Amino acid sequence: MEMKNGYQGDVKAVINASELLTVHATGPKTGDALSDLGIIRGGAVVFQGASIIDVGTTDEMLAVHKPQSIIDAAGQVVMPGFVDPHTHLVHMGSRHEEYECKIAGRSYADLHKVGGIRYTVSMTRAASAEDLYQKALRDLDIMLLHGTTTVEAKSGYGLDRENELKLLHVARRLNETHPVEVISTFLGAHTVPDEFKERKAAYVALVRQMLDEVAPLAEFCDVWCDPLGFSVDDCRQILSDARQHGLKLKLHVEQTAWSGGGELAGEMGAVSADHLDFVSLDAISQMRDKKVVGVILPGVTYHLMEFKKDIPVKEMIDGGMAIALATDYNPGSCRTQSMQAILETACRLYRLTYAQAINAATLNAAYALDRGDSIGSLAPGKRADMVIVDCSEHGVIINNFGINHVRTVIKDGEVVVLDGHLEGSRLRQSRSMAKVQSA
Ligand SMILES: [Zn+2]
Repeated sequence: MEMKNGYQGDVKAVINASELLTVHATGPKTGDALSDLGIIRGGAVVFQGASIIDVGTTDEMLAVHKPQSIIDAAGQVVMPGFVDPHTHLVHMGSRHEEYECKIAGRSYADLHKVGGIRYTVSMTRAASAEDLYQKALRDLDIMLLHGTTTVEAKSGYGLDRENELKLLHVARRLNETHPVEVISTFLGAHTVPDEFKERKAAYVALVRQMLDEVAPLAEFCDVWCDPLGFSVDDCRQILSDARQHGLKLKLHVEQTAWSGGGELAGEMGAVSADHLDFVSLDAISQMRDKKVVGVILPGVTYHLMEFKKDIPVKEMIDGGMAIALATDYNPGSCRTQSMQAILETACRLYRLTYAQAINAATLNAAYALDRGDSIGSLAPGKRADMVIVDCSEHGVIINNFGINHVRTVIKDGEVVVLDGHLEGSRLRQSRSMAKVQSA
């Protein structure tokens, strides 16, 4: 695993946490383990450079380590940085007017006239790489201020060779210049663009052709496997080719109705399957057996006001499947950059416990990005990505909703948010330099 910041610096420590949520386990958490946050009261984390070297009580840690700099987290919760494993970060244009129509009860057909994904595609195609970069940079700042230290970013609003490559290059530049780690996913099969409306097979062929050029810029390939999107056969072809190109696999499945995408995710041993609103019990056991992480997106349920949907989250947990949480940040179906908002929504809509939600948004979310060995929990050898939260017990973060509880964010051992403010362009610059040196 390449570190964004690999040098060995001073030994530092965060001490006196009222609750240190280590969240640690050696695999994704399932079943009863989802209720365990590995809490150490009066906890401390000792780190050097980008890596954690020790974790324990403050007394234990200060007896064996002599940190050169110390952050006192008395009265505060310290926990891993949030990992957001599903976003459509890079895009242009706002669809708030369309959303007001939805609030007013206008039909889907009406909304389509106002805009929909076609609007986002046209705005994104028309935007320069620089404008897309600047907009996404602001979104990443908001994410970081709310405690997210790693985020996945999908392409999928370009839908042609030139524009998909543009989005992936923007994501790469964001990763190189912003403290948040940005992990890139190619989502050419997001929807069928207008110019291929009557020729879906030709568009699937184009997506497969794009793989030669996009594979070096992405880590994952994703598809929208849905009755309104691409069929199981289309998705199997695209994902098989993507795997040949060295990409790992993700799928959007069963969002608007069952179509067999969950079964396909199990069959192909994907890293994650996301949405899962209409997933079958068979698919849940197949995905459990193949260690596919189920990424659930409560912000979409909330934002689209589809409260009556019977999303089988309890069945996934009881069935032994690992679940993760993500924002699905995008201009249409979910409009928040905040993982705290997602925790709050998950507990209210799906009745997750506080511990289940926090495990799903940290360690399990890291496994949904194939990063479980390096991020998502606080343990020796892991990256020093953590947040300090302005309450003394973790339940307050979720019980008290609609505000930002994060005060301090440490990414790869560097303080990047202090007292609720970004540490500024200096850190961006230094992180960028550190990455150049380690490259
Ligand atoms: Zn999505």
